[in-house]
Amino acid sequence: MSRVWNFSAGPSVLPLPVLERAREELTDWKGIGASVMEISHRSAEFIDLADRIEADFRRLLGITDDYAVLFTAGGATTAQALIPLNFAAAGQTVDVVVTGHWSKTAIKQAAPYVRVHEAATSAPSEFTTVPPASEWVCSEDAAYLHYTANETIHGVAIRQVPQDLPANAAPLVVDFSSSIASEPIDVSRYGILYAGAQKNLGPVGISVVVVRRDLLERAGQVRADIFDYRSHVARDSMLNTPPTFNWYLLGLTVEWMIAQGGTPVFRERNEMKARMLYDVIDGSGGFFRNPVEPAARSIMNVPFFLPSEDLDARFVALSRENQMLGLKGHKAIGGVRASIYNAMPVEGVETLASFMREFRRTHG
Ligand SMILES: *Cc1c(COP(=O)(O)O)cnc(C)c1O
Repeated sequence: MSRVWNFSAGPSVLPLPVLERAREELTDWKGIGASVMEISHRSAEFIDLADRIEADFRRLLGITDDYAVLFTAGGATTAQALIPLNFAAAGQTVDVVVTGHWSKTAIKQAAPYVRVHEAATSAPSEFTTVPPASEWVCSEDAAYLHYTANETIHGVAIRQVPQDLPANAAPLVVDFSSSIASEPIDVSRYGILYAGAQKNLGPVGISVVVVRRDLLERAGQVRADIFDYRSHVARDSMLNTPPTFNWYLLGLTVEWMIAQGGTPVFRERNEMKARMLYDVIDGSGGFFRNPVEPAARSIMNVPFFLPSEDLDARFVALSRENQMLGLKGHKAIGGVRASIYNAMPVEGVETLASFMREFRRTHG
């Protein structure tokens, strides 16, 4: 049984050495005689593991002690609801920049708790652009300004904090679910960054929330203790039983990324991988089409369309026969989508690029 090239958008491919190590350690972790998922999260061994994972994660992203790092059960969508509860007063305004599907889910999850103001939207371009930051309309009293670093479905990215943010912009809260650790970022520019793990960090079922500590002083809104990020910080992400196995797998993935050379290496590799696909698309005489403005294109998710829906389906079916998995586009926009996260090797993308050229030759 061999492994295919897995282009799934999330849950998605994990590094093979991570899976092999997990398999090796599955029945007997560290000579304990039990797996990591069978022991207490309060055991000295697990607490030591959790400490080490936090230290590695901070090192990978360059996170200083001015920020708290939380590992929480639940997904990015959970964070999209908890962030307004924790960091905005009831009915307070939050500014949101809308660049695609996940910006809209952030609005939907926040709407019961706050007044959402759309600071900018690229809906008129059908989410193929990023509205220039100089034109974002920020509210005077906003609790924070939310945007999505990488729109996983539309393939649109705001890779770095825009230089020309409005002077009155509130602290940035950024959804990094599908691009965290894909390249270096300056964490000090953000108030909060959060990510579900299942795109670039590990398995589904755990998320990371990185919060500038001064924001934790905010009163927020009435909420149960279990929804209170301050409580989670005070208890080192062990307020209740954490998803220990997911946490462990996330740790192995982070360790692998550091061993690979960290985010500078991934930036170079990811840009190269993305360029290979965009080059085939742009050089195909319109056979493959990616509608995103080049400056806004994602280096993690590359959506594209063939001349007809029939050809999209044929392409996906034939790719599966050629040992490539997960290329069907999201149902919201259709077409084809190649997700090429950190764990996707260059060789996998080369295989897809050759397959695309061959498909065009035989079907164009
Ligand atoms: C996948 C994804 C989400 C949703 O994550 P869940 O873990 O399913 O809640 C949110 N934002 C972005 C950018 C995503 O890629």
